[in-house]
Amino acid sequence: MQFETLAIHAGQEPDPNNGAVMTPVYMTSTYKQDGIGKPRQGYEYSRTHNPTRKALQDCLAALENGTWGLCFGSGMAATDTVLRLLSSGEHVVAGNDVYGGTFRLFDKILRRFNLDFAFADTTDVENLADALTPATRIVWLETPTNPLLAVSDIRAVVAMAKSHANKPLVVVDNTFATPYLQRPLDLGADLVIHSMTKYLGGHSDAIGGAIIGNDPELGQQLAYLQNAIGAVLSPMDSFLILRGIKTLPIRMDRHAENAEKIVNFLVAHKQVARVIYPFHESHPNVQIAKRQMRNGGGMISFILKGGADAAIRTAEATKIFTLAESLGGVESLIEVPAAMTHLSTKGSPLEVDAGLVRLSVGIENVDDLIADLERAIG
Ligand SMILES: *Cc1c(COP(=O)(O)O)cnc(C)c1O
Repeated sequence: MQFETLAIHAGQEPDPNNGAVMTPVYMTSTYKQDGIGKPRQGYEYSRTHNPTRKALQDCLAALENGTWGLCFGSGMAATDTVLRLLSSGEHVVAGNDVYGGTFRLFDKILRRFNLDFAFADTTDVENLADALTPATRIVWLETPTNPLLAVSDIRAVVAMAKSHANKPLVVVDNTFATPYLQRPLDLGADLVIHSMTKYLGGHSDAIGGAIIGNDPELGQQLAYLQNAIGAVLSPMDSFLILRGIKTLPIRMDRHAENAEKIVNFLVAHKQVARVIYPFHESHPNVQIAKRQMRNGGGMISFILKGGADAAIRTAEATKIFTLAESLGGVESLIEVPAAMTHLSTKGSPLEVDAGLVRLSVGIENVDDLIADLERAIG
């Protein structure tokens, strides 16, 4: 089956009892057992297994071309659970432009538990090779990154990591691309993680995270951690995200179609110093982006000639683009990363340009969106 069909049907069968087409929201903490040690269909307790969550997990596994999926209460909970594979003294190499919350978890919290981190520019595999140590267990990759939309060659990163003696796991945060645009497991990655809060949910109404893979042993270890730590996704949020995923392909196509028109508008604008978009010819890694992604996605970053003041003025003046953190919903959002989502990176190597504006382009009418930006930039 093709992606569009899987997005609607994978993991979901009409209810065998009553024919309900949509997977019910199984709001239950526990399940009747037929005898001691005889749970029905393996369901005992909802931290461990829940039918609504299972439908979403199986759908995600199909979309990423993995064999298993696990869902968590947020993208950060999924990330934290992956890091629990490690033991004290072990090392992670991460991109130097990762999501601000990922950087905060690694640098501010997990260091206290004696895990070690190096941050490298993963767009050049040589930098990555230099950062690996004999203790490196994970290479943590984000592509495209947030908010600079840097693109790394997943295949090349995997080849480099696997040529290293201790063969670190390659984990790709696929939040920005979604499996519709890019499938890291097909390119050799060991694990994919998602903030489902963004494009997968797609309607800015749920927080959720996921881990997907195809190695059965890793799947067992992470399922054990999911249950032992307990940062699981609720049945209601599982339902909302399952529903969102059904329209993922058409939403992603429209996000990208709108984004490309807005990129052309911004590139031609006199007040705009620089526009960053993975599929624009000016992007340093446009070739790799076009090789590993189906389209350029819905995120655009740009720098105004007027710097921080102009960025803040613009972000506060739009009427359709809502001033808000987050991304990936049907509605367009605007933000200034240095003052909002990436405030915690101030003074670190990950600090971003104060004049940078980030757009999450929604699926509204693109002429309305361009008129809104035109008025706000002035
Ligand atoms: C939002 C985001 C996260 C964190 O996900 P939450 O659902 O907010 O916990 C991780 N990575 C990327 C790229 C994100 O955009």
